[in-house]
Amino acid sequence: MTAPVLPAAFGFLASARPEGSQVPDAVFATRGSRTDIVTSLGAQTLAATLVHTPEAAPETAWARDADTSVLLAGELYNRAALHSLLPPGSEPDGDAQLLLRLLHRYGPHAFRLVNGRFAAMVSTGRRVLLATDHAGSVPLYVRMTPGEVKASTEAKTLAGDHVPRGFPLADARRVHGLPGVYQVPAGTVLDVGLESGTAEAHRTWTPPLSRRIMPEDEAVTAVRAALDQAVAARVAPGGTPLVVLSGGIDSSGVAACAHRAAGALDTVSMGTDTSDEFPQARAVARHLATGHREITVPTTDLLAQLPHAVWAAESVDPDIIEYLLPLVALYRALDGPPRRILTGYGADIPLAGMHREDRLPNLDTAVVHDMATFDGLNEMSPVLSALGGHWTTHPYWDRDLLDLLVSLEAALKRRHGRDKWVLRAALADALPEETVNRPKLGVHEGSGTTSSFSRLLIEHGVAEPAVGKAKRQVVCELFGLTVAGGRHPSQVSTADVVQSVADRFARGAA
Ligand code: ATP
Ligand code: MG
Repeated sequence: MTAPVLPAAFGFLASARPEGSQVPDAVFATRGSRTDIVTSLGAQTLAATLVHTPEAAPETAWARDADTSVLLAGELYNRAALHSLLPPGSEPDGDAQLLLRLLHRYGPHAFRLVNGRFAAMVSTGRRVLLATDHAGSVPLYVRMTPGEVKASTEAKTLAGDHVPRGFPLADARRVHGLPGVYQVPAGTVLDVGLESGTAEAHRTWTPPLSRRIMPEDEAVTAVRAALDQAVAARVAPGGTPLVVLSGGIDSSGVAACAHRAAGALDTVSMGTDTSDEFPQARAVARHLATGHREITVPTTDLLAQLPHAVWAAESVDPDIIEYLLPLVALYRALDGPPRRILTGYGADIPLAGMHREDRLPNLDTAVVHDMATFDGLNEMSPVLSALGGHWTTHPYWDRDLLDLLVSLEAALKRRHGRDKWVLRAALADALPEETVNRPKLGVHEGSGTTSSFSRLLIEHGVAEPAVGKAKRQVVCELFGLTVAGGRHPSQVSTADVVQSVADRFARGAA
């Protein structure tokens, strides 16, 4: 099967009823065209809107036969392996059809086989299956009311005061500020009875808990091979991929592998008027001879885009929003046609790179904690780049590479006084030495996002010790206005929200 340049659909909103569904009306943050589907299966009617790039073939995001339908947002990365499981016959026309055939063969267990970046809704008989990839990297939300299951890749499309509260779902996560809306956990098939309103969750993936002991050189070779494979699976044949490049080891490693896989590469770096990593990124771009671009976003513009970041991420975690804001600003600043973008995001989670931790017990505690708490933060949501019409993918969270990285024993992650040692060693022959040895600098630090957000609060009168708490309130308020309240982020002012939070602190009411 040839991989398409971009996934057939970036997102969907769908309603399943025993009969007579209507295509729900909604505003998505995902930019693109819409295609509506209404179809009758044996025991239910499905009505859906797919969001996709204007150039896509959205019909391949949907497949059906007599009584089963598969809606798919996103893409699969182990297509050839999945295909090899099927009886010989015609090539499936796209990922949704491949999944449909696997479902006939394996039932819902088909999702245990898939390495991908997707959210799926399967209608079959009187049941609806809602499935996420192992990382939950494409968020999937559900609202159940008597006789209807609505599912969407954006929580905001399920919001609204006028709708009944919905059934509680014990196995899914409530969404802050949206009563009756639940998020399907990562690596899960939620099996919902359309009429009974019952739901049962089946985990299809869980982070490895044990640790593998490997000789240094074997671990290094395995990491390099798995990264090469994860990147190659994310590069469309014939296309020039784009890597968002900081010059840190994570994105530089992705750039080196992508250049090898595609034969040509574009890279782009963002900075602000207060801070950038341009020289470090340039060194990598020069080494790989990429088509390189630098984009400077003035800090005031960056902070003004906070409502967009919250609207896209649908997360109320202020730390996560600080990581994502500079990337949202970068994706929105990319003009031109929709691109396939590879990022180095997420490598620090299985490798404990954020913790700058020397002691091995603490390092593994950090890995265990971060792997147990990533779900629901939406750090890798495709909506972040889909605001600008682009598709992102995160090779370090490829299922096979992630399984390997998490499971390596801690001394391979911190070794010879180096953090992320095994990754640095795996890339030693592909990058300049200064890049391989460069200390970590988080995207929120390199762009000055954390410090400029703090400064904004302090300028509005928030005392320094209260800044962390104030950030949390600003993000919560932005979520309330944009995601729950339905306001378009361009009509929400960061400065106004910061002022109202600062006033509340000044009155001692926070
Ligand atoms: P390191 O963790 O060693 O600093 P890194 O910079 O590649 O490596 P992060 O700092 O965790 O990784 O940043 C996450 C990802 O966000 C990067 O891998 C990269 O894809 C993207 N990114 C970060 N900063 C920038 C930037 N200034 N310009 C473009 N992309 C960036
Ligand atoms: Mg960095």
